[in-house]
Amino acid sequence: MSVDNLKIAVSQLKGVGPKITRSMEEKGIKTIEDLFYLLPLRYLDQRTIHPISGLKEGERGNVIARVIAYRSLFFRHTRKKGYEAVVEDETGTISLKWFQWSPSYLKRVCEKGVFLFLSGQVSRFGETLQMVHPDVVVLDDETEADDLKKVTPLYSPIDGIKQGTLRKLIQDALERYADDTKSVYPESIEMRHRLTPLPEALRKIHCPEEDLYSDGPRHRYMERLILEEYLLFQSALWIHKSVRRKEKGISFRAQGSFHKKFVKNLRFELTDAQKRVISEIEGDMSGPEPMNRLLQGDVGSGKTICAVIASCIAIDNGYQVAFMAPTEILAEQHYLTIHRFFEMLNITIAFLRGNMGKERKPVLNGIRNGEITVIVGTHAIIQKDVAFNKLGLIVIDEQHRFGVLQRRLLIEKSITPDVLMMTATPIPRTLSMVVYGDLDVSVIDEMPKGRQPIVTKVFLYDVKEKVHALVEKEITGGHQVFIVYPLIEESDKVDLLNATQMFAYFRDSLFPDYRIGLLHGAMKAEEKEKTMALFKDGVIDILVCTTVIEVGIDVPNATMIVIEHAERFGLSQLHQLRGRVGRGAHPSKCALITSSCRTEIATKRLRIMEKTNDGFKIAEEDMLIRGVGDMLGVRQSGIPKFRVGDIIRDMDIMLHARNIAEESLPELKAVDVKKIKEAIRDRWGEDFHTIA
Ligand code: ADP
Ligand code: MG
Repeated sequence: MSVDNLKIAVSQLKGVGPKITRSMEEKGIKTIEDLFYLLPLRYLDQRTIHPISGLKEGERGNVIARVIAYRSLFFRHTRKKGYEAVVEDETGTISLKWFQWSPSYLKRVCEKGVFLFLSGQVSRFGETLQMVHPDVVVLDDETEADDLKKVTPLYSPIDGIKQGTLRKLIQDALERYADDTKSVYPESIEMRHRLTPLPEALRKIHCPEEDLYSDGPRHRYMERLILEEYLLFQSALWIHKSVRRKEKGISFRAQGSFHKKFVKNLRFELTDAQKRVISEIEGDMSGPEPMNRLLQGDVGSGKTICAVIASCIAIDNGYQVAFMAPTEILAEQHYLTIHRFFEMLNITIAFLRGNMGKERKPVLNGIRNGEITVIVGTHAIIQKDVAFNKLGLIVIDEQHRFGVLQRRLLIEKSITPDVLMMTATPIPRTLSMVVYGDLDVSVIDEMPKGRQPIVTKVFLYDVKEKVHALVEKEITGGHQVFIVYPLIEESDKVDLLNATQMFAYFRDSLFPDYRIGLLHGAMKAEEKEKTMALFKDGVIDILVCTTVIEVGIDVPNATMIVIEHAERFGLSQLHQLRGRVGRGAHPSKCALITSSCRTEIATKRLRIMEKTNDGFKIAEEDMLIRGVGDMLGVRQSGIPKFRVGDIIRDMDIMLHARNIAEESLPELKAVDVKKIKEAIRDRWGEDFHTIA
């Protein structure tokens, strides 16, 4: 692919001025390549002309007919105007109707005796057949119509650009640059798998010989485009994995003293799933290759314990451990959860904050000279000024948000530590198999014993009193309650106002007899910690909070969570929030309050939460309802944006792409692999976590 030509700005095309350029830019079309990938919405098939007598209600038809009458219409009930023309051919007549028009347009079209080339959906009005808002071409004479008997692509409308202009632009561009769209993969691959060359596929799409959508939305040329981008994605996974294989890792020895002591001191028996995962981790860590494992498991399934055990193995072998989370708040929650485990074992642990002022230096020193063994923080902990003494293991929570950059920094420091990633936003198994192709995946699919399902119910906003009564019942029963407010419009400020206002309302008006606490992201760390500690110790009955509590809080006596504006959350996130309760032996409740009785989809989504406590199922449903693009779990999973493909609909193509990649890449010449790597970088750049 000659990337350069495809990167030419559309404004360089003949006939494209500043106005068209701007309109296109608004649609995200900046380059020739973007223009090529603007796929037709539908095709207008005008290859056959139908006699009027042969037109059928409910079908599309193309006719050539002469105007015999026209008139304006007035609908008394709606007080709206319309316009009608009647046309005839040798076989019969049909009526044309417009409810919107411009006078000059009608003047051109509705002239007695004029021949029209008409295409449209045929419907019935009383006894007569009609076409409403037909596509019309005025013919100078009947024979001219031969040129019009073809298939025309119709694109999603762009302000200020006529369909005809757009078509012309795309076709001109194709003439000049179609050959530049050639695949980055060698022709031998296309031949072996009988793939249409990309330039031909694009030509067939934009200059079609038939209605490509007649058998559904996915035609063979589109499949070709999807295969190409999936192939690139699968190649990226494959390359990443093969690079990894060559790295030299640390061969840790398991069953050291910290490891044994920690497991012995656990207050509970590990679940079978945890035991399995730990033995998988032990296997990785003791092997010579660096571990690159993703641990998937529902909230509360006990992932953290597994990570702590992995840490013990590294520490037993004299290495340091870094725990990273995507945001400072999440890192802090993590710290609060794990520090007691390490302190119990007399292992020094530090939280490295972004702005810790004077305190930062001694912590950095401690990391450098090895006095600090476990370091918790955001990705900032592997930044330039942080030098580790001997880093052996990195535990990454919600791995997707870590880009390429961080990994590269590590490699620059010539360190190849083991990496354990954890995620509580499960994505469906079939999907993870394909998109985490470069990772080893462990799944905890079993909850610790004694956990009871959290009874969940959706409430509409106007029956909030019912929820308040339930809250009161929990508290009089000696339990505690979370009330969660969402981030509204990404703005912490608005969010804060809401939680703060409601806190005051609960404290002063609604529940004056109970102890209410407030927790949000903008509070100072010590305050947060204090509030959390108070809640944990049962000094606070109701904690009004934002999604700060998403991760890390573990209060077995909290038996109810109320989530306001539940429709604003993704299902996976709701599921995570819900996981904050149900951690003790008592039955727990989750009330989802929604104001959106209007949007059926939102309510339907929420009802899924009532039906199941299984995070995988929820992810699957969420995906089906919202599509992959919107689903939190997937968006976060590091899957890049695809131009044409839809991961769910086109899963079969993804599997095909994986097979092709695995079969062909090992045989490719270095120059070809280099081209592919360039294409990957060009396409997804630094966002894409798998290209080191
Ligand atoms: P996750 O990180 O997957 O959300 P955690 O590791 O924080 O889950 O575990 C949730 C809670 O369950 C913690 O209080 C933890 O101590 C407890 N826990 C973990 N494993 C078990 C187990 N096998 N039996 C009982 N409790 C467990
Ligand atoms: Mg290893």
